[in-house]
Amino acid sequence: MFDKKQLIFDGHNDVLSRLHNLTKTSQIESFTEGNDGAMDLPRCISGGFAGGLFSVYVPSKEGFAEDLEAMKESSYELSLPEPIKFSDGLTISLEQLSILLRLERAGVLCICRTAKEIYSSINEGILAAVFHLEGAEAIDSNLYNLDVFYSLGLRSIGPVWSRNNIFAGGVPFRFPSSADYGTGLTKIGIQLINRCNELGILIDLSHMNTASFWDVVKNSEKPLIATHSNVHAFCPHSRNLTDDQLQAIADSEGLVGVNFGAAFLRDDGRMLGDFSIDSILKHIDYLLEKLGESGVAFGSDYDGAVVPDEIASVSDLQRLVRAMQKHGYGEDLIERLCVKNWINILDRTWSN
Ligand code: ZN
Repeated sequence: MFDKKQLIFDGHNDVLSRLHNLTKTSQIESFTEGNDGAMDLPRCISGGFAGGLFSVYVPSKEGFAEDLEAMKESSYELSLPEPIKFSDGLTISLEQLSILLRLERAGVLCICRTAKEIYSSINEGILAAVFHLEGAEAIDSNLYNLDVFYSLGLRSIGPVWSRNNIFAGGVPFRFPSSADYGTGLTKIGIQLINRCNELGILIDLSHMNTASFWDVVKNSEKPLIATHSNVHAFCPHSRNLTDDQLQAIADSEGLVGVNFGAAFLRDDGRMLGDFSIDSILKHIDYLLEKLGESGVAFGSDYDGAVVPDEIASVSDLQRLVRAMQKHGYGEDLIERLCVKNWINILDRTWSN
């Protein structure tokens, strides 16, 4: 179904959140037939989007619309939203997981648990989805739910979104700013990291504050991965990675997925789409220098952030491929950035 296109396997999307906000009856239809969002099946096919990490995310009570508005400015200092109650976190996560399961039952995607499953799903022309939790508010302090979610296909966790919880400290959205805000992993957070290592669940460093980041470095035995973050040296957003963080990721033979979100790419940190996709190439070049050709991939944030107008939806992704070709990347490197690096590192993370 993806004939003659460079396929893309991507590290982060929020389509489940978008679908969750629709009426129950329209959720599956919205994805299979297409509508106003940045991601749906027809546009995945036309853009060569073959799969990726599908995020289950619990929104904060405060909402995010006002924050997105504030982030249109060139300087902002947002506060961390209030913590989420476990019962709310669990309920909403199960609802979004249910949408993912229904999409699988409808035959449009496969929830993949191994690298082999990702490859065979893509070969069969079915979207390869990895079940990711963005913020572990659905996991209890005894980690019972972790095993339950694992058996349902969970293979990736960001212990925190930009909000504190029982596991770690999240980073507030600030520009220009460091991520040095608040405390790191809690005792239960360290247990979560250890148990994820044992089970073979990816631990996502995106959205962590500085202390939490370095606590994961100290406690995790797996390659370090930030699924959707960029270069702080170019865009000093609190969500981006500093050179010493990139060095730690390189030392672990880890990976960074380049986020298409405007606020994390633009030099001025503004969440506005009127800028060139060349800025993505600029971040990739820097990351390649720091992490090598196996350590860089994509983490688009489609349906979760304002992205460059040129690649407003997944159907535009071949434009990015053409820009990479024009920029001088060879076929092999493009293949790595678009597909192979993600699948290889998932394989290394999931196998014990
Ligand atoms: Zn995110």
